[in-house]
Amino acid sequence: MINHVRKVLIVGGGIGGLSAGIALRKISIEVEIAEIQKEWNVYGVGIIQPANALRALDNLGVLEACLQHGFSYPGFSYHTGQGHKFAKPESPRIEGYPGVNGLSRRKLHNILLDAATIAGTEIRMGITVQTIENKDDHVFVEFTDGTSAMYDLVIGADGTNSRVRDLLFGEVNQEYVGQAVWRYTLPRPEEVNTGIFYFGQKGKAGLVPMSKEEMYLLLTTHELDNPKMPVDQLDQLLRERLQEFGGIIAQVRNQITDASSVVYRPIFSYLMRAPWHRGRVILIGDAAHSTTPHLGQGASLAIEDAVVLAELLEQGDDIQQNLSAFTERRFERCRIVVDNSRQLVQWELMEWEGRMPKDVNIAEFTKNTLVKMNEPILQPHIHLERRVGL
Ligand SMILES: Cc1cc2nc3c(=O)[nH]c(=O)nc-3n(C[C@H](O)[C@H](O)[C@H](O)COP(=O)(O)OP(=O)(O)OC[C@H]3O[C@@H](n4cnc5c(N)ncnc54)[C@H](O)[C@@H]3O)c2cc1C
Repeated sequence: MINHVRKVLIVGGGIGGLSAGIALRKISIEVEIAEIQKEWNVYGVGIIQPANALRALDNLGVLEACLQHGFSYPGFSYHTGQGHKFAKPESPRIEGYPGVNGLSRRKLHNILLDAATIAGTEIRMGITVQTIENKDDHVFVEFTDGTSAMYDLVIGADGTNSRVRDLLFGEVNQEYVGQAVWRYTLPRPEEVNTGIFYFGQKGKAGLVPMSKEEMYLLLTTHELDNPKMPVDQLDQLLRERLQEFGGIIAQVRNQITDASSVVYRPIFSYLMRAPWHRGRVILIGDAAHSTTPHLGQGASLAIEDAVVLAELLEQGDDIQQNLSAFTERRFERCRIVVDNSRQLVQWELMEWEGRMPKDVNIAEFTKNTLVKMNEPILQPHIHLERRVGL
């Protein structure tokens, strides 16, 4: 069906939803975002932004702000648990961009929110979709506040527990991968001027710069049956799990004193089967593909989804063709991230169980995956603004 998209509803105002709001406003589409939270509540640790994320943020026009508020570094150096370095920090670059930028999640949210608001996106807080009905030439949506409206397109950007997905696609199998990640924000010592991973016997620790002043510490651990952790003891439990590490981790470990500031997350992973649309409703970001954080690519993919969808909607008036093309353009790339991140989880689990094959080179595998992620995502004739001289 030939039909120009003029008015879009985005369900979810997270990283993907706000990015889609900015990208669609850039091509003059009217955009509403429905966000379930009454007030924004973004947790206070950081996010790793590899080169492909920076390229997509550049396309949205917010790269400068991300670099200004963040901390750019060449990549992650790899160390044993006691601090012996075995791989240098070298994240594959795209010309004109740093290898990686670290940024606080709250800063990223504020940057995207400001840009979406300035671009004219209407954001409604504290509501979600009650029903979604695909019609021939529009989508009819009823909201939980009793209002209803018609849209040319609905984008489900409502994250891992997507209601849009439940309503239109049915339940997906979110698989618990056997690991959890712990994170905590700390002052950044001057020597933490790049990302650092420490591979211990019981877990993998990391230090990630996220501004001139701050870094966050992360720890992935083997938590076989997804245990429920006592929230008032998270600081003590994290300190205990960091005991095996030397180097800077040993120096900063005792600064972890506030249980409520420890962000603990069991890790799940899934990839929706293609296609990612039903009629005029499409899923982007974690709603369609949720990866473990081992390659720092989840948010990067959500931002890229927004950029690619806008490109497709700008180029063609055949909405079904555009939505099919979206999954075709995005599926393989997202599959690589989901599968390769799961492979890294498997190797970490094997390492902890003492049965890691000798010939595995995690640094090389990660680098090769990131090289793949740096391949272009837009059609060759699309001009990407570039920040030069970095
Ligand atoms: C431990 C951990 C570390 C990570 N580290 C990184 C990293 O360093 N780099 C990276 O690129 N990625 C990372 N990720 C992944 C990244 O956080 C996600 O991929 C990214 O947030 C996905 O964006 P999204 O917009 O799809 O979903 P979200 O950011 O989760 O946003 C979803 C939004 O939808 C809203 N919502 C939910 N349900 C509804 C509803 N029914 N109606 C309306 N609104 C709704 C939510 O409130 C939220 O605002 C990490 C993930 C985890 C778990």
